[in-house]
Amino acid sequence: MPASTTKKYRPETRLVHGGTLRSQFGETSEALYLTQGYVYESSLQAERRFKNEEPGYQYSRFSNPTVTMFEQRMALLEGAEAARATATGMAAVNTALMGQLRAGDHVVASKQLFGSCRYIVEEHLPRYGVSSTLVDGTDLDQWKKAVTKNTKTFFLESPTNPNLEVLDIKAIAQIAHDAGATLVVDNVFSTPLFQQPLELGADCVVYSATKHIDGQGRCLGGVILGSEKFILDNVQTLIRQTGPSLSPFNAWVLLKGLETLVVRVQKQTDNAAAVAVALAEHPKVTRLIYPGRPDHPQADIIRRQMKGGSNLVAFEIKGGKAGAFKFQDALKIVKISNNLGDAKSLITHPATTTHQRLTPEARAELGITDGMVRLSCGLEHSDDLVEDLLDALKAV
Ligand SMILES: *Cc1c(COP(=O)(O)O)cnc(C)c1O
Repeated sequence: MPASTTKKYRPETRLVHGGTLRSQFGETSEALYLTQGYVYESSLQAERRFKNEEPGYQYSRFSNPTVTMFEQRMALLEGAEAARATATGMAAVNTALMGQLRAGDHVVASKQLFGSCRYIVEEHLPRYGVSSTLVDGTDLDQWKKAVTKNTKTFFLESPTNPNLEVLDIKAIAQIAHDAGATLVVDNVFSTPLFQQPLELGADCVVYSATKHIDGQGRCLGGVILGSEKFILDNVQTLIRQTGPSLSPFNAWVLLKGLETLVVRVQKQTDNAAAVAVALAEHPKVTRLIYPGRPDHPQADIIRRQMKGGSNLVAFEIKGGKAGAFKFQDALKIVKISNNLGDAKSLITHPATTTHQRLTPEARAELGITDGMVRLSCGLEHSDDLVEDLLDALKAV
């Protein structure tokens, strides 16, 4: 179904039909085009394809029909003019930032970032002469004060990993635009269903499709979305010439993941809400953060900017690291893993895994205490999940 037809339908319908390119065989399910290259009917046709004088495929590093289907379905879901898929979420982040930046430019980013994203801003970009300032993303004044005459782009994620803080995307987009800069939003934790950064003023949205979009723990992938101009100016050529391209096989897995995204994320979010209710007042849980609760520190921003909570819940176990380890080790259904968005519920102890690279001071600044765990709720029955968590708390 061509994008122009699918646009009028609601997200659930777009996720099942959007972007489908049917071959001459009329297959129901999307075809998997495992091909590196394409053949031409004549030398003239090859010449015209390379000169961009006629549409068509040339080489799967540039584009591939299965990858195109995934990109179009994502663009339709996000309400973006254009999308380019990448091999991983980090390739999406790196390409979206590097594509805009030149030596001498400056980046402002929230310090509440996924570990590898923080590495790109703090350590990778400066090697190429791009300076950066990290701010507390919840403090709008810090964003304003960090701007220099060379500021080219702002970068943030919301809700943040692992503490699920929520940043005011609309207000930060305004500050970026007033400074002549762009805003890139890593929208993984809210999923494309609960928050639409482009509508809130962002210029570019990136996803790790590895998370909820696959949602079944199978393959890595990423995607960059924005206006036709943003993608053409910053992303298209960089992907084509440097090759962080998504494999057609993974694009096919992710396309099938998109078909069930709504039902999975809704069920996972319902599970997270049930867990938050069951644990919030528990005597062995000293603090609980869930974006779907009215006691969330940024509840007013959440009401304005998000359509749903999240499948993630962060909470602090009494007894610091020892308490958190005893709790995690006593879980039977919930698995210990640093991943998220999976069909299986997964729990992480950020202080000793995803955020162990940071100094204790940097962790304290981010509110990552030794007792804190981050739970990604899966598709299990909510009663089984809650019982497993309550049983494990008895071990603490
Ligand atoms: C996982 C994740 C990434 C990186 O994605 P990969 O697919 O693992 O490369 C980036 N940002 C956020 C918020 C993530 O959760």
